[in-house]
Amino acid sequence: MIIDAHCDVLWKLWEKKVDFYNSEELRFNYLKWQQSDIKVQCFAIFVPEEVKEESQFSVALEMVSIFFEQVVDPYDDVKFISNRQDLLNLKAHEKGAVLTLEGCHSIGADINKLKALVRMGVRIVGLTWNQANAVCDGIEEERGAGLSSFGKDVVHYLNKEQIWVDLSHISYQGFWDIMDIGDYPMASHSNVFQIAPHVRNLDNSQIEALIACDSWIGITFVPEFINGRKVAYRQEIIKHIEYIVAMGGESILGFGSDFEGTEDEVIGLKDIMDYKFLINDLCHSQTKSTMQKLSYKNFVDKFPRIRN
Ligand SMILES: [Zn+2]
Repeated sequence: MIIDAHCDVLWKLWEKKVDFYNSEELRFNYLKWQQSDIKVQCFAIFVPEEVKEESQFSVALEMVSIFFEQVVDPYDDVKFISNRQDLLNLKAHEKGAVLTLEGCHSIGADINKLKALVRMGVRIVGLTWNQANAVCDGIEEERGAGLSSFGKDVVHYLNKEQIWVDLSHISYQGFWDIMDIGDYPMASHSNVFQIAPHVRNLDNSQIEALIACDSWIGITFVPEFINGRKVAYRQEIIKHIEYIVAMGGESILGFGSDFEGTEDEVIGLKDIMDYKFLINDLCHSQTKSTMQKLSYKNFVDKFPRIRN
């Protein structure tokens, strides 16, 4: 049983207009999901930067429609996850689907747009993608600024709503600003900087801070974040997990694959069906209890939303 905190299936369905049920173009489709060990998947709304500013929010809404109309509603065994109890209530044959937002650029500087998305079901909010927006700078923005005043309003609102604030992609300063005022920080898809020195990864002080506040980190399968190159092997992912476990982070670890978010492939982990091989590899070095925690339990225990 696995929970995966990040994929870009909605973006792919929006961009390519392929069939979620069985499209061979998808590393994650319904049939593969059924045959895989993934119990719960988070689906990100990601509006590409090429979309004109005035259309960004409507594209986000299109992806909300895709989530419900193509991923959740057609299937009796796929359940929309709104809160922690929904995760606990899943029956043996059921799968859970969580709606998330990758980057607040699509809300502009209008908090009502974010409130609307949360009311529609968004439960993890990534404040930025790589660039700057009205909330905060992303990690590739040279200026490197932290939260704006509007960004602080956004975080206070998310605290009140018990919504996870996703720190993958955020600027370094932004990360520390959230550690100051965010009640529910997490990083849905980032690896260890010490192993792969890429700006998208987390350095030791960031990992320590996330452990100290009992947060959550999803190890991701993007080759560049695994070893700094365009190609990576499945076995290399284990180093990142072992590193964080050795730092005392076994209770904050999980997975955030980023399937459909990159064309680059991890050898031995080409789609979600291959997850079982990674779990198998990990069983050699990790205890049964650690395996349960990082594949499923940590995510459920930390999922902040209690009310509906
Ligand atoms: Zn991403």
